[in-house]
Amino acid sequence: MTIGDSILKQLKQEINEVEYNRYIKQLSFCTENSKTDYALFLAPNPLIASWVRTKYSEKIAHLFEIKTSIKPQVAIEIKSKKQTNSKNSENIISAPAHNTQQSLLNPAYTFENYVVGSSNQFAFSAAQSVCDKPGEAYNPLFIYGGVGLGKTHLMQAVGNRLQTQGKTIIFSSVEQFVNDFTRHLRNQTMDRFKDKYRKCDVLMIDDVQFLSGKTQTQEEFFHTFEVLKSENKQIILTSDKQPKQIAGIEDRLISRFEWGLVTDIQPPELETKIAIINKKCEINRVDISKEVIDYIATIIDNNAREIEGILSKLHAYAKLMNQTITLEFTKNVLKEQLKEKRENITIESIVKFVSKELNVKPSEIKSKNRSKNIVYARRVSIYLARSLTQNTMPQLAQYFGMKDHTTISHTMKKINELIKSDENFKVKIDELNNKISAGGQT
Ligand code: ADP
Ligand code: MG
Repeated sequence: MTIGDSILKQLKQEINEVEYNRYIKQLSFCTENSKTDYALFLAPNPLIASWVRTKYSEKIAHLFEIKTSIKPQVAIEIKSKKQTNSKNSENIISAPAHNTQQSLLNPAYTFENYVVGSSNQFAFSAAQSVCDKPGEAYNPLFIYGGVGLGKTHLMQAVGNRLQTQGKTIIFSSVEQFVNDFTRHLRNQTMDRFKDKYRKCDVLMIDDVQFLSGKTQTQEEFFHTFEVLKSENKQIILTSDKQPKQIAGIEDRLISRFEWGLVTDIQPPELETKIAIINKKCEINRVDISKEVIDYIATIIDNNAREIEGILSKLHAYAKLMNQTITLEFTKNVLKEQLKEKRENITIESIVKFVSKELNVKPSEIKSKNRSKNIVYARRVSIYLARSLTQNTMPQLAQYFGMKDHTTISHTMKKINELIKSDENFKVKIDELNNKISAGGQT
């Protein structure tokens, strides 16, 4: 088995089976053209290539790094085109111009590919200003908003632009930052860690909310921040909520997060969703009618990440069944998906999810325990179960071991009042709601 194959096998352990079968399984590792610092995989079509590139190239690179200590550039090329145009193919990510440690950015995450609407106009302009005056205009630039609203895309757009101007860009998830930190600490190679994170021109950390509770990493990140900031190097951060709302982060870091510009991205309006779908069709060279695009825009939630999955599915089915993608065809193909999505959310899955998020046991949520945090978790679960599943109030009462539906109705009233009066609470509920709707990932 080649190293590439064993990496994919490892990836299989870490991702869900449907994703694995639909995308990763279709890849083959190209031994001839790969090197220790360059891993080339071949995909059967542009959609799979783009999907894997967006979602998994960072992860694949990381698995290589764990195995070989070298983090390669991961390229996903389209198989059929390989013979005809190998070197100039747009699907090959060009090698970095110089030797300094650079991060692999998704080449599709550009400003040109970013659709601007009133929901993201401000963040978009801020990102462009950062490109004009890196380190000066807004430092740090802090972008926050819900899942799939385009934070990572926008941040990498800055990275892609500045990279072409010869700047050294480090893009890292919190997970990768933590892994790098612990590995270098253990191996006593902290100078290399510092070289990587402190000697770049632009440092981008994605989803900083995951720093929550990681005291040691926060300390290290604080020092990294101070060094970069004092040298006017640009820092860009994203998060699912605004700095003050992130729990478990030191005050001094929160105040640093707020030093530059904090901007949010709101869920897209229908027109913006339609424009994003159009853009994705263009990039992935999928040809579908306006009617179908409008339909897709109305069934997706606010999460633009769903779009590529849907296009990929439509494309695959159309090919398999040798059909054109009409509205009726689309409805049929997506019917299952819509049903699945709703059926996947059950009271159990909500309770399980809430218990994990709020750190109580599922059995406690269902018990009669009156301690404050458990009552809180129970209320939140009931509220989410009522809003996200088809269960009736008596069914919920039965599940949560309550006398009758009046208790549920009382809880709903209570929570609706809280949502109106307590901004923090509203944010928390929205966050849980989004996460569960997006597939319940923590
Ligand atoms: P986030 O980091 O906020 O969770 P991403 O940046 O990963 O979201 O975006 C999810 C997907 O949606 C990506 O494929 C991205 O290209 C696409 N996307 C989101 N917003 C836009 C937009 N305004 N224009 C074009 N594509 C977008
Ligand atoms: Mg993101």
